[in-house]
Amino acid sequence: MKEYDKLIFEISRPGRKGYELPADNYGHDALADIPAGLMRGEAAELPEVSELDVVRHYTNLSNKNFGVDTGFYPLGSCTMKYNPKINEEVAAMPEFAEIHPLQEAETAQGALELYYNLQQALSSLAGLEEFTLNPYAGAHGELTGLMVMSQYHISRGDTRRTKVIVPDTAHGTNPASAMVAGLEVVEVKSKPNGSIDVEDLKPLLDDTVAGIMMTNPNTLGMFEVEILEIAKLVHDAGGLLYYDGANFNPLLGKVRPGDMGFDIMHINLHKTFSTPHGGGGPGSGPVGVAKHLVDLLPNPRVKKDAEGKFYVTGDDRSLGSVSTFFGNFGVMMKAYAYILTLGRNNIRNVGPMATLNANYIKESLKDAYKLPIEGPCKHEFVFDGLLDKSNGVTTLNVAKRLLDYGFHAPTIYFPLLFHESMMIEPTETESKETLDEFIDVMHRVAREAAEDPEVVKRAPVTTAISHPDETGAAKNPILSYRSLKKAKA
Ligand SMILES: *Cc1c(COP(=O)(O)O)cnc(C)c1O
Repeated sequence: MKEYDKLIFEISRPGRKGYELPADNYGHDALADIPAGLMRGEAAELPEVSELDVVRHYTNLSNKNFGVDTGFYPLGSCTMKYNPKINEEVAAMPEFAEIHPLQEAETAQGALELYYNLQQALSSLAGLEEFTLNPYAGAHGELTGLMVMSQYHISRGDTRRTKVIVPDTAHGTNPASAMVAGLEVVEVKSKPNGSIDVEDLKPLLDDTVAGIMMTNPNTLGMFEVEILEIAKLVHDAGGLLYYDGANFNPLLGKVRPGDMGFDIMHINLHKTFSTPHGGGGPGSGPVGVAKHLVDLLPNPRVKKDAEGKFYVTGDDRSLGSVSTFFGNFGVMMKAYAYILTLGRNNIRNVGPMATLNANYIKESLKDAYKLPIEGPCKHEFVFDGLLDKSNGVTTLNVAKRLLDYGFHAPTIYFPLLFHESMMIEPTETESKETLDEFIDVMHRVAREAAEDPEVVKRAPVTTAISHPDETGAAKNPILSYRSLKKAKA
């Protein structure tokens, strides 16, 4: 039996209809009023179901979903923090939501002001001169930032600089974005504590290096304490520093990448600034640059004139445009609402609270899970599977078992430095009670792994499906009713 048959997906019954225009509407034939040219010649290839069937189908599907609104979601590197509902209300205001992108600037002053103010707030938090909010996501921001990097060297006639140094712990999008930007990726090794090996970096720094991409705190949640030395080495060699600020969360209002020596960065509004992501909504990956790179940012740009009026403009030296119009404006509205809700003082508490939560979980669980890197972490950390692996219970098994207890799994098998990586990021929005429940369940799963390993290996048993064929799902996705029918035929 195939996985989708078990799901009772097929509720279509021949001849069943959601709605049909009545032939006799108190003496009036509604069907006869429809012009012949607007009538469908052939039946639509759709399931034949009643309206109630459809409502129940989608409502039940939504209940099978796991989200931040239903439970704890400690997915490392993804910052699944709570998405405040006020943000959604603000973004839905018709005064903004119904603006047409081709409207004259005079008639959209409020929207342009919001774009401008958010840009200013990000510049202030990052310690960089200017931001573009146009890129649609983190990876898109990386591509945009790397195009700025590349364009900077080319504009100076320095055309040999085509290499980008990326640490072996980097998020997978870093080398991918560099390749898409037409740059060559060179890997720099990490030390056992996860930070960049400066001795391995030095020989890589020649006159073909365009720059380095870094995450700080890095993927293991450790702050790169040698960042100032690294910045000096890269700049002295003529390269630029790119900061992957997808997870800017731990440093918000405390430490500025611009002060660490970074020239370019992107921020994920859909991680750091609480806007929904994953299945919950589109992203936004603003890119900020230091003063000497401002001209190269993509068009269009929003500026303010001497009278305080906002206008849309572009720069001839720009690398061009990376999005239609200004990017995902609704996401910017949600992020701006979040920033204003907290204010300059409270935003400084986000990082320390997230850091406290991460360290609390780490210290509470290291008696049962293998902690490869000791010492305080920032907002996230990595376990290398169970401490006792003798029963063959893997990180995947533990992740699946957590679902039975109502928790989403952490990020697993990333970073690649360890065989059984389990990357945990609780975020600042979780209460101590939730953290304690999670710690309790993680201990319980570790005990099960020791006493009754099959229970963990069989998990999950409470979810709609248990062990889907992930490769099959990726290679032959069934995304429509038509493809389901084809797959079954
Ligand atoms: C999420 C993430 C990205 C990519 O962001 P997307 O919006 O998913 O494209 C890049 N780097 C890091 C460190 C991330 O966590």
